[in-house]
Amino acid sequence: MDTVRVPTLSEEPGAPVLENVIPLSVPDICGNEWKYVKECLDTGWVSSAGSFVERFEREVAAYLGVEHAVATVNGTAALHIALRVAGVKPDDEVLVSTLTFIAAVNAIQYCGAHPVFMDSERVSWNMDPLKVVEFLEKECTVKQGQLVNLATGRRIAAILPVHILGHPVNMDPILEAAERFQIPVIEDAAESLGASYNGKPVGTLGDVACLSFNGNKIITSGGGGMVVTRHAAWAKHARHLTTQAKADAVEYLHDEVGHNYRLVNILAALGVAQLERLPEFIRRKREIARRYEAALRGMEGLTLMPEAPWAWSTFWLYTVLLNPNVFSVSKEDVIQSMGRCGVQVRPIWHPIHRQPVYHHAQAYRIEVADDLHRRGVSLPCSGSLSEEAQDKVVRELRRLAERAT
Ligand SMILES: *Cc1c(COP(=O)(O)O)cnc(C)c1O
Repeated sequence: MDTVRVPTLSEEPGAPVLENVIPLSVPDICGNEWKYVKECLDTGWVSSAGSFVERFEREVAAYLGVEHAVATVNGTAALHIALRVAGVKPDDEVLVSTLTFIAAVNAIQYCGAHPVFMDSERVSWNMDPLKVVEFLEKECTVKQGQLVNLATGRRIAAILPVHILGHPVNMDPILEAAERFQIPVIEDAAESLGASYNGKPVGTLGDVACLSFNGNKIITSGGGGMVVTRHAAWAKHARHLTTQAKADAVEYLHDEVGHNYRLVNILAALGVAQLERLPEFIRRKREIARRYEAALRGMEGLTLMPEAPWAWSTFWLYTVLLNPNVFSVSKEDVIQSMGRCGVQVRPIWHPIHRQPVYHHAQAYRIEVADDLHRRGVSLPCSGSLSEEAQDKVVRELRRLAERAT
């Protein structure tokens, strides 16, 4: 039967391709995935011991040019471990971007710590470094050698910028302030593997960073994540914590509360195969972005995805802003109408300080993030997106804008 299935908002990016639907973003599994997974099955190395786990860690570390990498079951687990090795303790506070996927904020809560939400800036849509510096200078004080939030009396234990949608955060002012106040910086690079900031790879800028290999990310192992760091001791601690904190593997002595967070060999095999193709995937994402730019530039009421002067973006999820005063079709109407035509588009996340679970947390001078949320929609940008399909996306968007005027 030839029915068009209308994608719903609950549909996850990374789901298999539906017929007649132009999906938001689906993985490309056409490399050595079968070969490497078969090798695991043929040799019986399916679980958390096995050569692909180490190889995946080694190759990601080499790709980024960072000393240490520890593979985990997913990106959220990587964030949890990164926060722990960075010394985040119960009742601490962590400054975190509000406009992002919720994983990093949940990970802060897993540590018993509290998020303090930071705004986005216009030029990159990422964490506004000036507001971070302003918050640290004006809203905090040093007490007995510790940086303390004046409003809550709690210790500020870390800054956690998230590089969203493939675009790097403006890191230098954040790193400079972190150095001055002696607090670690944890990068959430889950969406931006392969992007760089002033020529330096995202994930190597702070003290520790997290990657994700979930199905919707630029490379996928089905599920998976990684902690990367230049601190040898932190990497050692991360490895310890992800494997149930066994102090003695023979006698089963445990010296901390650990986690069963180690990635398994079958999934690492997928990851190794995907990593081989990362440069090609990024090239495609950037090509798609250029085509959208050429087709949509100058369109009334539409703002294109930025690439800030410091940034080399992967354009992981191509996103535009609709100006409701000019575009005259609401974001919701655009999403629904395009969905009916078989074009899967998605709204940008609700800022986390507006989420029911985090409405009680402190949010510092948030303005831009709310505006981006009101206006942001992500367009289809799978590597496999054909020119015809991309032209259809553009056509539908233009048709909606014209019909409304
Ligand atoms: C996907 C994602 C994560 C979490 O990764 P999982 O592997 O799904 O746990 C964390 N942060 C951001 C910004 C993400 O997009």
